[in-house]
Amino acid sequence: MVIFGDYHTHTRYSGGRYNVKHATGTILENAMSAKEKGLKQIAITEHGFSHKLYGVKRKNIDRMRKEIDDAKQKTGVDILLGIEANIISSEGDVDLTSEDIKKLDFIIVGFHNFAKAKNLKEFFKFRLPNMLNLKREKDIKRNTLALMKAMDKYPIDLISHPGSHMSLDFETIGKHAVNTNTHLELNGKRICYSKNDVKKLVQMGVMFMANSDAHSAIRVGEVNKGINFAIKYDIPQKNIANLEKFPYLKNLKRN
Ligand SMILES: [Zn+2]
Ligand SMILES: [Zn+2]
Repeated sequence: MVIFGDYHTHTRYSGGRYNVKHATGTILENAMSAKEKGLKQIAITEHGFSHKLYGVKRKNIDRMRKEIDDAKQKTGVDILLGIEANIISSEGDVDLTSEDIKKLDFIIVGFHNFAKAKNLKEFFKFRLPNMLNLKREKDIKRNTLALMKAMDKYPIDLISHPGSHMSLDFETIGKHAVNTNTHLELNGKRICYSKNDVKKLVQMGVMFMANSDAHSAIRVGEVNKGINFAIKYDIPQKNIANLEKFPYLKNLKRN
């Protein structure tokens, strides 16, 4: 199995307003590590703007594009400017404007505990129950509907660590992911699908992506957790989009 690209990597730009050291590498270091491991493509996907501790600053996006162009030239690895945006409401809002989206090649959406809710109402309705990791029927229903709405509203390429602190009905999410060409992640740190979930997701033709979610350059391309999970639960190779070839990515114009 050849891993073609790692589509979920962080750098020092995931530092937030307090410049917390959340991830350690630079864009060039992530690309160099990718090259060493034989990857053809990576995405730099910092935490979205509303993440209080680790979010990337909007003003850094243009600077990141320049660094990416430079790192591409130096390493020959293709690098996408992405983001790991936050879902911030039960209505499926994420922390991206249409102007932001125009600047990006690749969009991940995930739920994160420290992302600011859209407003106070959504804090109590959406963020708080998920911070508490509640899995009542009504939480699953609300979260599933929210993520489906997000997939309809935004050109999302990938849902990161589905089910982590956001309980979901995977069967409903899987169908919607197939209909909207959205990948579901086999995350390098957190995988929440049960064996039964996987069986149904594979049957309906869900496309997965095995990514590292690297927070240091050395971990770029380390997708063993996802691959081992795929082997254990019989996910066929053809259902993993970043093996052997470039995946179809809706935001990447040249694809
Ligand atoms: Zn994440
Ligand atoms: Zn991440």
